[in-house]
Amino acid sequence: MSKNARTTRRNVLQGGGALVAATAGLMALGASQQAQASTDIPASAEKKCATCRYWGGVRRVSTDKQTVSADGKGWCNNPNSPAYQKQTNPTQGAPVWTRWDALG
Ligand code: SF4
Repeated sequence: MSKNARTTRRNVLQGGGALVAATAGLMALGASQQAQASTDIPASAEKKCATCRYWGGVRRVSTDKQTVSADGKGWCNNPNSPAYQKQTNPTQGAPVWTRWDALG
């Protein structure tokens, strides 16, 4: 086997290893996304992180603006909250809650 042939074979094997690692990473990402179930909170709910303007979680407002659906935990970005810079569940809350602008 020539040096060029060995080099090419090594390159293919290394490339295959990267492909396996990339595939494993995508599978892990898919599993983590499936593990995050959505939590629905009434948009009128007060003192809940899901409806707070300071909450940094993944969430969306329903088209009729009646419900907020949140995926997993989010960061509290309110420096006046005891939970500041901590991750909270969408159903948690604090007295310093302020309504999220997106809710009108
Ligand atoms: S802990 Fe309080 S201030 Fe922080 S995001 Fe939740 S409701 Fe808002």
